[in-house]
Amino acid sequence: MHAPTDPTVHTHEATGSAIVTRFAPSPTGFLHIGGARTALFNWLFARKAGGKYLLRIEDTDRERSTQPAVDAILAGLAWLGLEADGPPTFQFTRAARHQEAATSLVASGGAYHCYLSKEEESALKEEARAKGLAFRSPWRDPDYGTPPTGASYVTRLRAPSDNTIIEVMDKVQGRVVTAGREIDDFILLRSDHTPTYMLAVVVDDHDMGVTHIIRGDDHLTNAARQSVLIKAFGWPVPVYAHIPLIHGDDGKKLSKRHGALGVDEYRRMGYLPEAMRAYLLRLGWSKGDLDIVSTDEALALFDLEGLGRSPARLDFVKMGSVNAHFIRLADDTRLMELLREQASQSGIDLSAIPDVILKAALPYLKPRAQTLPDLLDQLQFILAKRPITLDEKASKALSSEAIERIRRLRGELSLLIVWQHDEIKGSLDRFAGEENIGIGKIGPAVRAALTGGLAAPDLAVTMQLLGKQETLGRLDDII
Ligand code: GLU
Repeated sequence: MHAPTDPTVHTHEATGSAIVTRFAPSPTGFLHIGGARTALFNWLFARKAGGKYLLRIEDTDRERSTQPAVDAILAGLAWLGLEADGPPTFQFTRAARHQEAATSLVASGGAYHCYLSKEEESALKEEARAKGLAFRSPWRDPDYGTPPTGASYVTRLRAPSDNTIIEVMDKVQGRVVTAGREIDDFILLRSDHTPTYMLAVVVDDHDMGVTHIIRGDDHLTNAARQSVLIKAFGWPVPVYAHIPLIHGDDGKKLSKRHGALGVDEYRRMGYLPEAMRAYLLRLGWSKGDLDIVSTDEALALFDLEGLGRSPARLDFVKMGSVNAHFIRLADDTRLMELLREQASQSGIDLSAIPDVILKAALPYLKPRAQTLPDLLDQLQFILAKRPITLDEKASKALSSEAIERIRRLRGELSLLIVWQHDEIKGSLDRFAGEENIGIGKIGPAVRAALTGGLAAPDLAVTMQLLGKQETLGRLDDII
C-alpha cells in the first residue's frame, strides 16, 4: 500500500529582503546563552539578507511568565546589540486572533469540536496507545452525532491519517520524516477557548510573515506537528533549521552546574557583547577554519549551511581568549566607561583615578586582560594607598643598599619637569649610567617600592601613571 504523501509541498522560498526571521523566547526565566545564540543566528541571517528580524515574547503560559523575565530578555538582547525590527509581539495579546484562526479551520474542515469527557478521552488515548496509533477523537467524523446541548468542547486539529508521511526539510537535520500515527488530533483551543501553544506559534509565525525559523532542536518534534497545522491552514511552511543544543564542557546537556547560563551573568563577569556574539557564533556555526569572526564579518558570511549538526560545548577557556581578543580591539574611551561601570557594580572605588590616567593606562593593561575584572585587578597598583603594603618578595628586594640607591634616584626624578614616559625613561637610564649599573639592577627595588608587589606595567609607564607626586611620595615612604 502506498502511503499518501504530504498534500502540500508549499514551502517558503523567500530570498533577500523578503526574508523574515524571529526569536520567540518564553519569559519564564533569564535570557540563557542558548536563547541568545538562537537570537543571534536569526538576527544574522535576516540582517545579512537585508530582511527582517522580529521578536515575539511567548507569554501564553500565564503561570510561569513573569515581567522580570520579559525585562531580563529585553535587557539581554539590548546588551548583545540584537535589536529587532519593530516592537516585540506579545503572544498573549493575540488570543482573539488565535481563536479566530481556529474557528476558520473548523469551518474549512481542518479542525473540529470534540465533546469527549475527560474519562472518554483517557480511555480512547489508552486504546490508541496500545495499538500504536495516534489518538483520534470520534468527533472528527462529521457524522458522529449531534453534540450534547450545552456540553463543553475543545477544538482539535483533524490530523492527517495514520499512514501519511510527514516530511520536514530541515537545513541542519536534513529530511526528517514523521509517521502520521505519531501526530494525534492535538488541541488548538481548550474548553475555555484559550489557544494552545502549538496554535499560537503557527498563527503568529504566519501573521508575522516568518519565512525562516532557526531554533533549538528540542523543537524538532514540534516542527512536524506545526507543519501539519500550517498545511491545514493552507499556508506556506517556513524553512526550518533546528540547531543542536549547547552542551557543557563535559559533553552533558547544559545545566546550572556548568556555570553562568544567563546572559546578564556574562555581562557581570566582564565579557564584552561583541565577544559574546563572536563566541556564541562559534558555538554551532563555522566556516572553513575561521576562528574568531567579528560581527561585521559574520554579517557578510553567515549561512545556514555553516550550522553544525553536533552539539557544541561551552568552553570558558575559549570564551576568555575570545574576550581578550575583543578587549585588545576595544576603543579605550568605551573601555574606560565600561570599567567604571564594572567597578561600581563590584564596589571598587575608581574615583581616585582620573579619566586621563585611566585612559592612558589601558593600552598597557589590555594585552594581559581577558575580562573587565582582570583590568580592574591590574589597576590595583594605582589604587593602592600610601604607605604601600609590601608583599614578601617586595620586602626582600628593598635591601638597605637598594634603599640608598632609591634615595639618589628620587633626587634625579624630582628634577624632571615633564613627567612623561620618555622623560622618565631617560632619567632612569641616566641614573643607571651614573651608578654604573644596569637598570635591571635597580628596577626590581624601585618597582617594589612603588607597587608593593602588585602587577604593574614597565617602570617608566608605572611612574607616569602614578604621577610625579605619588611616585615621589611612595619612594619617600620607603626611604
Ligand atoms: N517559546 C519557545 C521557547 O522558548 C520557542 C518556540 C519557537 O521558537 O518556535 O523555547
